[in-house]
Amino acid sequence: MSELAALRSEIRAFIHEELAQQRFTAHCDSWLTSFDPDFSARLGERGLIGLMIPIQFGGRGLGVAERLVVSEELLAAGAPVAAHWFAERQFAPSIVRHGTPSQQAEWLPRVTRGKAWIAIGLSEADAGSDLAAIRTRAEQVDGGWAITGAKLWSSGAHTAHAIVVLARTGAQRHEGLTQFIVRLPNAGVQIRPIPLISGEHHFNEVAFDHAFIPDSDVLGPIGNGWTQAMQELAFERAGPERYLSTLPLLQELLSGLGPDAESASELGRCIAEITSFRAINQRVVEHLATGQTSAIDIPMLKSLGTSFEQRTVQIALDLVADSSRTAPPITAAQGLLREAQFQSPGFSIRGGTNEVLRGIISKGLTR
Ligand SMILES: Cc1cc2nc3c(=O)[nH]c(=O)nc-3n(C[C@H](O)[C@H](O)[C@H](O)COP(=O)(O)OP(=O)(O)OC[C@H]3O[C@@H](n4cnc5c(N)ncnc54)[C@H](O)[C@@H]3O)c2cc1C
Repeated sequence: MSELAALRSEIRAFIHEELAQQRFTAHCDSWLTSFDPDFSARLGERGLIGLMIPIQFGGRGLGVAERLVVSEELLAAGAPVAAHWFAERQFAPSIVRHGTPSQQAEWLPRVTRGKAWIAIGLSEADAGSDLAAIRTRAEQVDGGWAITGAKLWSSGAHTAHAIVVLARTGAQRHEGLTQFIVRLPNAGVQIRPIPLISGEHHFNEVAFDHAFIPDSDVLGPIGNGWTQAMQELAFERAGPERYLSTLPLLQELLSGLGPDAESASELGRCIAEITSFRAINQRVVEHLATGQTSAIDIPMLKSLGTSFEQRTVQIALDLVADSSRTAPPITAAQGLLREAQFQSPGFSIRGGTNEVLRGIISKGLTR
């Protein structure tokens, strides 16, 4: 058995055990919405978080291909991975690359144990697509920095141990930006919930009023924040969560499919598309590993993948609405469909909107 196949068996066995003990039920978009610290801790105990983190910090020192295998299986199972997802996906790679030795020694083992929950503080009210327009600023004070401003749409900030904040430390549009690890709670930070229409709470507005950050929590060199944020966004956009968020729903529909050739062919097309996305994703992660990623691969994967995810919700709606096309009972599919419907508008917005990504693709094609 190849090493990747062995790893796939390992993660599947873990998921199988968890399901057998009824420790979780599958959800759509589980990487953003299914928060279960105990699940994250058990996954961490098995060495299945932070596979790319160097061995001396508790990881396995493996590559992006191995990480992709584990991510795919967790998403396909709709497993409750939200507690550690951002920490593992983009915080840890940034700490490996830009962190000080003491930041690495503190945070990386915590990430691998599933005990670091990190929020992303990029977007602001007038700076989403135009991220370099951010106005949250950090001023140097005795022993550190004071941050003032507000971040918007900060997923999971209300449960996070820290939020990584991109703040203005200088006048230049890109070179005037720096990243800070803001530990939570902090006397100068207020976290206000922004409830979803469903009543659920994932989003927050995070307000900073001269929040003190010690020098030891500056991430990377002063003025390197833009470069670091772009590297993190590449990891954020390049994963299988961009086409597998609704897979639990598709799987449930497949199992409840009636004797209807049209439905079978629609769902078959979806599965074929996923196969294509997996092939593109494989290429993207191989390139990411060597730093050779072309300008269009990642935005293409994310914009096509998230458009596909939104289409699958519509296909599911049509199928569930027409009871002659599914075999009863389809209750589980209805629950998954409801949550996918609530989440789907965000698929093509989070991590950069599809309109903006198409702009990047067209520039990449004409370069
Ligand atoms: C589910 C979800 C989770 C999120 N989590 C986080 C998080 O944890 N941390 C964080 O920092 N942010 C987060 N965000 C915010 C997200 O990154 C922003 O919403 C996104 O970057 C778009 O920014 P905006 O909302 O300000 O929209 P705007 O930038 O104001 O865009 C509004 C509209 O104009 C279009 N537009 C803008 N510029 C262009 C252009 N140049 N060409 C063509 N069209 C354009 C956009 O496509 C969009 O349709 C999250 C968003 C969602 C939906």
